[in-house]
Parts: sequence; structure tokens; C-alpha cells
Amino acid sequence: MSCVDAMRSPSWRALTRWGVALGLCACLAGSGCADEDAGAPRAKAGQPVAAANAPGAPGAPIPDAAREQAEAQIRAARLGAEREEAARIAASRAAAARKWGLAEAPIAAPAPPATRPALKSGPGVTRYGDLPPVVHRVPTQDRVVFLTVDDGAEKDPEFARMARELGVPFSAFVSGYLARGGWDYFRGLHEQGVAVNNHTVNHPDLRKLGYARQQQEICGEQEAAEREIGVASRLFRPPYGEFNEDTLRAAQSCGIVALPIWNQEAFPDRIEYRYDHRLKPGDIILTHFRGPGQWKGDMAQMLRRVVDTATAQGFALARLDDYL
Ligand SMILES: [Zn+2]
Repeated sequence: MSCVDAMRSPSWRALTRWGVALGLCACLAGSGCADEDAGAPRAKAGQPVAAANAPGAPGAPIPDAAREQAEAQIRAARLGAEREEAARIAASRAAAARKWGLAEAPIAAPAPPATRPALKSGPGVTRYGDLPPVVHRVPTQDRVVFLTVDDGAEKDPEFARMARELGVPFSAFVSGYLARGGWDYFRGLHEQGVAVNNHTVNHPDLRKLGYARQQQEICGEQEAAEREIGVASRLFRPPYGEFNEDTLRAAQSCGIVALPIWNQEAFPDRIEYRYDHRLKPGDIILTHFRGPGQWKGDMAQMLRRVVDTATAQGFALARLDDYL
């Protein structure tokens, strides 16, 4: 393997420790990478240490100028490799966009925030004391919107494949009575990076239930997700977007950290805006696991409409669970 190939390898990102960088310095200086110990030779048994540290000998200090030159070469190679990787991803998204009939390739989402934004009461966020916040719009300056898919009746493998190939994230909010007997589908989504979140066991209007029944609906679905896919949810969406204070207390007792609602709803043939007629940073888009039985179209057509709408308005789709 050549030095440049080594730097283009997937393990390059892990090569951050100085010792490894020095190894690559030696590598770039022409000694080759064939021997994985070439950059950090050690005195062999019986060999005096002083000999190993003699100028020019393996293990001798590297002069500053040579080191700076090697570092510059490493930086240039890394930049080149990153550009190549970005171009490769862009080409694959463009090919997927053509395959799935999008107007143009989706905009790549920025890196998720290192820490999730604080959810204080304000535009888009309502807090009731220390209870989990209710979020209509995620507080972010990033030009991102979030797709959320509810219920779980239609388990469309083409929709899952399309989202994966396009690199478009979404979050599912599953109601247990619809997932029953079909958890394989949601397990598959989980494995492709989709957060499978909580939408109650039986999809009731929670306002009509007392605290204990609400808690059964929410905690019961937490247990189902944990049993079926191995992860309990962090996010909960109340059916119909309806809740009362008991809902928030019950959700908190089940380990829920936030209740995302929505600002737009997506269908195969249209987007319905709740407040105005364009997307804003942090908007949450609702849609459903539904098919031609309930819609004028299928889930792939719905996803095409969502991505084309976001792209035309200069937005990327990002993963809600990275922000909340
Ligand atoms: Zn629902």
C-alpha cells in the first residue's frame, strides 16, 4: 500500500495521534509503508539504544523542517481525500436522485450539533415547568427541516430503500397496535439509522384518559420498542397532537425527553402548511406510514414531494433525534 493510499483508507480519520502522524512523516519521507513499524522503529533486542537515536538512524529525532514539510504533505493529502470522499457521496446522491425521479439531488445536511440545542420556552417551544418540552419548531439556524412518519399501518420497503439510497433521514413515531406482527420492518428502519419513537400503544386521544391510563399507553410502547428493537424511545408524539399536563407527567415517568408536534403535513400530491406557505429552519414535517388505500399515491411519491420541496426552498432534511 502506498502512503497516499494509506491516507485515503477508511482508517485515516482514526490516525490523529501524534505518534501515528510521525509514522506517516517517515512514510512520506520515502521509507514506504510496507512495514507497519517503519515510522516508529524500536531498538531490537540486543541493539544499543544510542545507535537507534543516531542521526539518520531509525528512531532519531526528525528535523523541524522535514517534519513541517511532512505535515504539510499530510494536510494536503487529507484535504484531497476529503474532497474525493465528498465528491463520491455527491455523485452517489445524484445517481440516487435520478433513479428515484427527483428534480435534483437532495441538499446534504450539515453535521449535527455537537450538543442538542437547549429547549427553553420561546418560538416553537412550550415548556410546562420541568416537564418534557413540546416542540413545534426546533430552535436552530441551520437550513434543515425534519421529516417524521407516524402510526405504522403501511410497511413499504420501497420507501425505506429510497430514503436509504438518497441519504435522507427521518424519524418514525410508531403506534404499537399497528406495528404488531410487523416489527421486522421497523427493526430494519432502526438498522438503517431511523429513530423509532413512541406514539402510544393504541393511538387514543390522551386527553380523554386519566394519568394511569396515559402512562400505560406511553410506557407500554416504550417496553414494546425495547423488546422488539432493543432501544426505548427518547421522543414521544401524542396522537392527533393532543395532550394535557397528565400526558407530559406520564411521558416523563416513561423516560421521554421531548414531545415534537409539527408545522407541515406531507402527502403524495401536496404539502399542507399550518401557518405560512414556506419552510423555516427547524420545521417538523408530519407524514404517515400510509399507502394508495388512504392516499392518492404511495410513500415513495410522498418522499419525492418532501425532498423536492425542501431542496427547492434551500433546505436539507436532517435527523430530528440529533437535535432534540
Ligand atoms: Zn397518529
